[in-house]
Order: sequence, then C-alpha cells, then structure tokens
Amino acid sequence: MLATILKEFFRREMLFPSILLDVSVHNPNRDTTRFRVSDAGKCHRMRYWKRQGIAMERDLSVSVQLLLQTGNLLHAWFEYALKEMGVLVCSELELADTYRIGHLDCVVKDSGKIVLYDFKTTSGKRFNFLNQHSGQPLDEHICQVMTYAELYQALLLPLDEVRIAYISRDTLEIREFSVPLSTQSEVKDDWTRLIKAWEAQEEPPQVDTWECKYCGYRKRCFPVKGRKYEEGESQKMVAEISPGVFIEFQIVVDGH
Ligand code: SF4
Repeated sequence: MLATILKEFFRREMLFPSILLDVSVHNPNRDTTRFRVSDAGKCHRMRYWKRQGIAMERDLSVSVQLLLQTGNLLHAWFEYALKEMGVLVCSELELADTYRIGHLDCVVKDSGKIVLYDFKTTSGKRFNFLNQHSGQPLDEHICQVMTYAELYQALLLPLDEVRIAYISRDTLEIREFSVPLSTQSEVKDDWTRLIKAWEAQEEPPQVDTWECKYCGYRKRCFPVKGRKYEEGESQKMVAEISPGVFIEFQIVVDGH
C-alpha cells in the first residue's frame, strides 16, 4: 500500500530535497492527434472535438491553476519517494496505440506484486465523500486506470493489480482502491463506441451532465441564452436519467 511505503520512507534518516519543477513531467505540448487516456470515461463529444483540434475555451483562475500545479508536484514527490524506497518499477511511461496516448503515473513492486497506480489529488470534500458515502472511485477514474492497464499489458509487461490512490489536498490523507481487472471489458466497450464514431466521422451527440459545467466546449454546446434558433433546426441530445443510464433524443424547432 502506498501509505505503508511512505511510512517506511519517513522512518529513514534523511534530508528533504527541494522538489525540482523539472520532475513534474506533465507536458504542455501534448500529442492531440490521438485520444488522451486521461479523458477516458468522459463525454464522447468533448473527446472527439479535442482530437479534431478544436480549441477549448479556457479561463482558469489563478487559484485553479495553482491547484493543478499542486497536484503535479505531489505526484512528482510520490514518484521520488517510491524511487528512493526502491519499489518504483517505472513512472510517467508513455503508452500508446493507434488511437490513444497517455502517460501512466507509476508502477510499483509492493509486497511481491506488480501494481499500476493512478494518483488523484482531490478536494477534502470529495475525499470525505469517498470515505463516508460512496466508498468507490469515480467511473471516469476507473476508465482511465483501466486503459493504462490495457495499454501496459499490451507491452507484455507483468501486472498483478491496479489501484487508484486518492490524496486529499486539505489533509494529505491517502485512500486507495484496488480496481478489479475484470472491469476492463466495460471500459473497452466505451472506447470501441468512440473509435467507431471517429472512424465514421460521426460527431457524438451532446450530453447534459455535470461535466458540461466545467467543459471548455460549454459555449459551443450551449450557445448564449437568448440565441434565436432557426425553424427546422435540430439538436441531438443525450440526458443522463439515472447514474450511467442515458437516453438519446432530438429537439427540432418547429416555429410555432
Ligand atoms: S459541454 Fe457537455 S456535451 Fe458539450 S462537449 Fe462538453 S461535456 Fe460534452
């Protein structure tokens, strides 16, 4: 377990090194010619447009950018500590196939098992929710880690377990979940649907979920209030009527 390895790390006599920014390997010039693994499980339309190179509107506040950087630094520090403890097999390994590309966080040898880790820094509120209520990682996080596992295994590298470690930004507590490799088939189905749409060049329909609130394509999908729609104009939509259950429908403006 990550927490156990770190406990051992802190028992050692050491000087704390300062964290060098260059250990944070998140590349700002990412390859967008393929789908990003880090977008797995998210809205198909967003992933499709992103791969088409359509620019997102981004107006992140300084505090949000600092939060993102804090996450990068924490990840880099974990990788440093795991390396120092001699349990790190690899980190930030690029994984790709014809359609997808991404970088896994790290693979660790823990108690004789080879474990692929995905780190998620999260707000204290969400961390408490995970602890107290659902007790399960988010579906999109499962999709992401399972895609890394699939691409890693495609390299014929050994893998015994897949885990997601949530780190609270408020308290720096860690909670980790082991994700059964059996969930891989559902994740593969999601990718198959998206890749099929891409090959047919069929734009996926609009959805209406919580993701839209934070999406850089929000204005494109939900034009400014008050816009006049033309008669006969139609809009395909998908609504999530209960968790994981979607219905597809089309709105046509009839002019009456
Ligand atoms: S605004 Fe919503 S429907 Fe549109 S691309 Fe973003 S997440 Fe998808």
